[in-house]
Amino acid sequence: MNSNEIDIHKELKKYFGFGQFKGLQEQVVKSIITQNNTFVIMPTGGGKSLCYQLPALIKDGTAIVVSPLIALMKNQVDAIRSLSSENGIAHVLNSSLTKTEIAQVKKDIVSGITKLLYVAPESLTKEEYIQFLRSVPLSFVAIDEAHCISEWGHDFRPEYRNLRTIIKQLGDIPVIGLTATATPKVQEDILKNLDMVNANTFKASFNRPNLFYEVRTKTKNIESDIIRFIKQHKGKSGIIYCLSRKKVEEIAQVLQVNGISAVPYHAGLDAKTRAKHQDMFLMEDVDVVVATIAFGMGIDKPDVRFVIHHDIPKSLESYYQETGRAGRDGGEGHCLAYYSYKDVEKLEKFMSGKPVAEQEIGFALLQEVVAYAETSMSRRKFLLHYFGEEFDSETGEGADMDDNVRNPKKKVEAKDQVVKLLKVVRDTKHLYKSKEIIFTLIGKINATIKAHKTDTQKFFGSGSDFEERYWMALIRQVLVDGYLSKDIETYGILKLTEKGAAFIQNPTSFMMSEDHEYNETEDEAIVT
Ligand code: ADP
Repeated sequence: MNSNEIDIHKELKKYFGFGQFKGLQEQVVKSIITQNNTFVIMPTGGGKSLCYQLPALIKDGTAIVVSPLIALMKNQVDAIRSLSSENGIAHVLNSSLTKTEIAQVKKDIVSGITKLLYVAPESLTKEEYIQFLRSVPLSFVAIDEAHCISEWGHDFRPEYRNLRTIIKQLGDIPVIGLTATATPKVQEDILKNLDMVNANTFKASFNRPNLFYEVRTKTKNIESDIIRFIKQHKGKSGIIYCLSRKKVEEIAQVLQVNGISAVPYHAGLDAKTRAKHQDMFLMEDVDVVVATIAFGMGIDKPDVRFVIHHDIPKSLESYYQETGRAGRDGGEGHCLAYYSYKDVEKLEKFMSGKPVAEQEIGFALLQEVVAYAETSMSRRKFLLHYFGEEFDSETGEGADMDDNVRNPKKKVEAKDQVVKLLKVVRDTKHLYKSKEIIFTLIGKINATIKAHKTDTQKFFGSGSDFEERYWMALIRQVLVDGYLSKDIETYGILKLTEKGAAFIQNPTSFMMSEDHEYNETEDEAIVT
């Protein structure tokens, strides 16, 4: 079919009833229709599904959609079937189907009725299916939740790693990757692993201007603090995330006893109870769900007014996803996280049983959460920088929507210290992560520093007039401002950027504020 002949607006109206495309959808649809490998990064709710569904409906042949969750696939298939009088227009192919059902799916594909075929990545490894799919006309392969391909994503799935090899066996067809979270490192992994570095890439902004970000010290009084917060949001819907099932049960009970309608949700509850509690939340029979991360996939309640993290999340991707469930309708969405360094230590201990590479990644991701919690700069700017996006913390949309911006710490001139820091990074030849850079500045020795004889250099101890905490805060700020970059491949080695090199040559004013200090802690074990 010649793409120039297709009026995609007409098709959009015909199939979905929408008068207009949303955001980048039109460009994405055009890219797919014209047979290009395409990479789509859009936050949840951005309208990713339509990006491949419309081209699939328009193009000849069947589109294969790889998706990690059977429940999500079923929802999608039901939604597409409701657009058409033909049930066979979309199918799921998986191991739970009977022989008769599989025969029907194949028949519909062969006869050209099926435009979308949803499969889990493990089903695609079945030789029988590969043989069959090779023999039928395919339009393209769409890979949903493409971040699952990267160990640096928040939901790594080894099965995703085989996808490229399998797709190659299916013939020369375009590949479409889609994800709602991807740091620059994860984006790179996706493009490399799917062998589509030249793909047309479309990235929507991750800024959620209506969300308010706040971090509070986690004290022994956390429960009364949460109760107070919820009472200030009386009658509004909210989610409280905890890391352990035990904590979920405990908090749910504490809230109930205090007259707040709340239900628990975690994987230890039976399916019926879970479904019931989810429905109660959706139908507004209860205000609050206290949950582990098991809650949320596919939850589309537009008016969630707050998301509280009782414990810190394992990565900023998870945090972004979880807080992203607030304020979907564009209205208020308060994202409150409680933070104590003890929680970080607990998570690190919890990870220490894992294989070394996985541990290192886990620690590096966790350090970003620590940086987010401790920083006193614009939280929105920090988060967006993490996702590879520049944000102007003075004029950007939603710029004043966080605790740090509303209650700024006093800023002090740090021009000379920035120069000192950048020079140490340069002169230690890009060998060190933050820890060793700080040690070098304050003149503290460890084995790594000894091994490189850094302690004999004239700049060793050149920043000893400031403390470790000061330098950590400064590093975080110059990273976000782009004077240094962090090499993720090596778990965080600091590098001087061009902008940093220029700053050394021609230093200008740099106002910095020290990080927050969080001291009081609470003790509990993590049982997921
Ligand atoms: P994502 O997969 O990116 O989370 P969805 O595909 O679920 O997002 O879409 C989010 C919502 O936006 C859905 O309710 C969908 O019907 C709606 N939507 C998508 N495209 C359009 C459009 N062009 N016009 C109006 N609504 C749209």
